[in-house]
Amino acid sequence: MAVFTRFKSAVRWRYIPPCSVYRRRLDPGPLLRPAESVPERRVHHGGAESAAPRRRPFSRVTADDLVFFRGVLPGRVITDPDVLESCNVDWLKTVKGNSEVLLRPKTTDEVSQILRYCNARNLAVCPQGGNTGLVGGSVPVFDEIILSTALLNRVLAFDTISGILTCQAGCVLESLSEYADKQDFVMPLDLGAKGSCHIGGNVSTNAGGLRLLRYGSLRGTVLGLEVVLADGRVLNLLASLRKDNTGFDLKQLFIGSEGTLGVVTAVTILCPRKPRSINVAFLGCSSFQNLLKTFHMCRGMLGEILSAFEFLDASCMSLLENHLKLTNPISESPFYIVIETAGSNSAHDEEKLHNFLDKVMTSSLVTDGTVATEEAKIKALWSLRERVTEALRHDGYTYKYDISLPVEKIYDLVTDMKEHLGSRAKNVVGYGHVGDGNLHLNVISPTKDVGLLAAIEPYVYEWAARCRGSISAEHGLGLKKRNFIYYSKVHAGSQRHPQPLQDPAR
Ligand SMILES: Cc1cc2nc3c(=O)[nH]c(=O)nc-3n(C[C@H](O)[C@H](O)[C@H](O)COP(=O)(O)OP(=O)(O)OC[C@H]3O[C@@H](n4cnc5c(N)ncnc54)[C@H](O)[C@@H]3O)c2cc1C
Repeated sequence: MAVFTRFKSAVRWRYIPPCSVYRRRLDPGPLLRPAESVPERRVHHGGAESAAPRRRPFSRVTADDLVFFRGVLPGRVITDPDVLESCNVDWLKTVKGNSEVLLRPKTTDEVSQILRYCNARNLAVCPQGGNTGLVGGSVPVFDEIILSTALLNRVLAFDTISGILTCQAGCVLESLSEYADKQDFVMPLDLGAKGSCHIGGNVSTNAGGLRLLRYGSLRGTVLGLEVVLADGRVLNLLASLRKDNTGFDLKQLFIGSEGTLGVVTAVTILCPRKPRSINVAFLGCSSFQNLLKTFHMCRGMLGEILSAFEFLDASCMSLLENHLKLTNPISESPFYIVIETAGSNSAHDEEKLHNFLDKVMTSSLVTDGTVATEEAKIKALWSLRERVTEALRHDGYTYKYDISLPVEKIYDLVTDMKEHLGSRAKNVVGYGHVGDGNLHLNVISPTKDVGLLAAIEPYVYEWAARCRGSISAEHGLGLKKRNFIYYSKVHAGSQRHPQPLQDPAR
């Protein structure tokens, strides 16, 4: 049906190559952060500057320590400053550590030996996956030893009946997607950084991403974990059961704990069957109100086949065009929507999508749009959403906020922030996961600007708190947001010193 290849405008397709910047980084990327008194902290982000802890009295790495590490990891103890450079800096290049040692274990036993030793020697360790984290948690704050999961990269088992995959924590998400694809399954998780991020990093940050609307969060799809605790003990929680109500679900403590409780060394995850038919629609909307009405209608009409509903505003599109030379396939609009359907019957899915598009076009909720069914075109449309983060990095110093809000309020924050900051900001843009009520608010300045930061924070966190939102929907706290947890978790102190409840039966 013609409507599925083009509708309304007559813009010709141009293939837009998929993002290459964060394809697999083979250089390694890093439990225990020092939290306190040597003024060698090098944090470039203004907010983090105030948030940065002081170095605690951890030991410093000695020649004897290196001898021990080399015995455990022959040829995999890196002290070359050139190699260490990239592991000391985060993806956004806003946070920089000063580690002089990078360790690259291949097995759980090696991780266990290292942590046991470091614990006994009082050496601080920073676990690092693909180093794509956006909150300054993946790099050392001071001179912590970087423990990279890059070589823990083997698939351990795959069950073709249940779709249960067990792999080491350093497997790159994209490689796992390709592996699952060959078995006729998909990973339940997808994000713009898939070419570099590790499944262990994803679990440790409880990454959300583009498929959460369909497959839910990692708290549901991760069935088991293997974790090495700070003292080297190995906790084998690698269950592959979907149901198990015997006692506490300990793995949940490690999902999203950002390396503070232990190093994840292996993951068991439930993969859904690969959908037979995928369609992606890229639509233009004249207002955010219309976008919300489109979302409401979309859920009603596409129901079980809806797999993603994402948005970006016109400023994001300009950044994609200017910095990455991507082409807007439809006419200019204040807002753009990416809708993906994934189902098992193409005729049925196409008919549903056709009816939906017909309805939103005739009711003028959507002003223009295009649909892709072929893989290359689907990738091209997705890159318009996935590469916004990359385009922003080219526009200047970016202050990033990843806020959960009631869905009807998500763009109000962008509008209000524009007004609040006025000409102090070079650019204020919004994009994100509408389906999950998750806004990525980004404020750009030509260079780091402490005055601008003071105008954004804590204003943005107060805004989120008033709406009972979260100051970190999916990126975690890292270094940058750790001091602001109280805006989302009133009883955050209980996270540090959980009190055991008294057994009411006694
Ligand atoms: C372009 C781009 C797009 C992105 N899109 C999304 C998105 O849609 N959704 C989303 O949620 N995030 C997104 N992110 C953020 C980032 O990719 C995720 O947070 C990702 O899960 C981090 O994985 P990683 O392997 O890179 O971890 P790292 O960045 O290396 O580490 C992140 C944190 O986890 C800890 N850690 C890493 N590995 C382990 C381990 N094995 N055991 C214990 N702790 C560990 C680190 O110490 C650190 O605190 C995006 C980032 C970029 C650059």
